[in-house]
Amino acid sequence: MPFTDPNQEDIFKRRESQVRSYCRSFDTVFVKAQGSEMTDADGKTYIDFLAGCSTLNYGHNDPDMKAALIEHISRDGVAHGLDMFTDAKAEWLGAFEEIILKPRGMDNYKIMMTGPTGTNSVEAAMKLARKITGRNNIIAFTNGFHGMTMGALSLTGNAAKRGGAGTNGGGLGGVTHLPYEGAFGDDVDTLEQIEMMLNNPSSGVDAPAAFIFEPIQGEGGLNAASNEWMQAIARLAKEHGALLIVDDIQSGCGRSGTYFAFEEAGIKPDLVTQAKSLSGMGLPFAALLIKEEHDVWNPAEHNGTFRGNNHAFVTSRVAFEKFWKDDKLSKDVKEKADILTAALKEIVDLIPGSRLKGRGMMQGVDVGTGDLAADICSRAFEKGLIIETSGADDEVVKILAPLTTPVETFRKGLDILIEAAREAAANTKIAAE
Ligand SMILES: *Cc1c(COP(=O)(O)O)cnc(C)c1O
Repeated sequence: MPFTDPNQEDIFKRRESQVRSYCRSFDTVFVKAQGSEMTDADGKTYIDFLAGCSTLNYGHNDPDMKAALIEHISRDGVAHGLDMFTDAKAEWLGAFEEIILKPRGMDNYKIMMTGPTGTNSVEAAMKLARKITGRNNIIAFTNGFHGMTMGALSLTGNAAKRGGAGTNGGGLGGVTHLPYEGAFGDDVDTLEQIEMMLNNPSSGVDAPAAFIFEPIQGEGGLNAASNEWMQAIARLAKEHGALLIVDDIQSGCGRSGTYFAFEEAGIKPDLVTQAKSLSGMGLPFAALLIKEEHDVWNPAEHNGTFRGNNHAFVTSRVAFEKFWKDDKLSKDVKEKADILTAALKEIVDLIPGSRLKGRGMMQGVDVGTGDLAADICSRAFEKGLIIETSGADDEVVKILAPLTTPVETFRKGLDILIEAAREAAANTKIAAE
């Protein structure tokens, strides 16, 4: 038990910075996590529909990943070796090549080990695109989220997050934000506007080094790009001599139903960022996939102490071997995505003006206001479900359950969510009357 010493009961509030975030919504102390469930210090078990914001696509403490990691540590396998050659790295690279890259016709990609979090791979992608093209401007999209370090933050749309830089926008330049698909509603084709901005030499948009987009916007409200939109952005990037960067940090590793969320669009991005579920077990691990012809770094030109986490190499390799050698997980995700859509439609029916968002196992409901979304999530938490919001005004209730969630648990979590939505909807109706 964590609080045998009563002085520790308020340790978080007393000692941890105000910047703390998710713990504010889920105000309990977690002591255990297994599969799709987390247990707190009082022994209460919660179904996890947040899954580390899509970092735990294979659930908490997968037994095979855990066993391989324990074995690696027990035999004094290398924990940290900068980016030196290790057996764990060789095995991981081999598995990535054979299980992920080759079957997808992506044999011509190099893998760059970046610092351990997603934002590190985004920074590396930005630097490389600018270095290759000799241009500064990067085209990012409305509601995009790409990370918290200064470069990645410059690509990020969210005003509150940008404000955290304390520079009033200074140092966050070199980026043009253009409308993502659907930004003006379903009837307006943003591609026409984007093309005009790029083709009109007086639009004020400098020739871009790169375009960067998320196939499904995770933090920005579960806007999902169509295959046609992704293909068109890929074509525009080519036409304008810019690189295409796909940020698949949240939408990747199977979340959409395929390993990469852009696979069905048939595009081959110049650079692909990977993090979140890449390690398979929630360990910090990020990488940048680079089309061979773009791998123009000088040795050590982009360096770092924690590049290539050996423990993550072990667990990530097991994830590839366990889940990606056949299409079982993909099929499973597609089936569960249908269950999810059906359940969310019930919520849409309960809340006037609400609508479905996202695709695959990355769906949610735009309930119209952040207050209502927060009310639904806090009622769900009371009932034993961990779930968060997303979107410009946090107006989208977002479901990011582990892909491996057993159907029975999944349905149980969805029932809790529907009940929470029913109560919250009734409550706002009473308040309005
Ligand atoms: C989470 C996320 C990032 C940043 O990753 P960190 O590990 O938090 O640095 C970047 N892009 C997308 C799409 C993300 O969801």
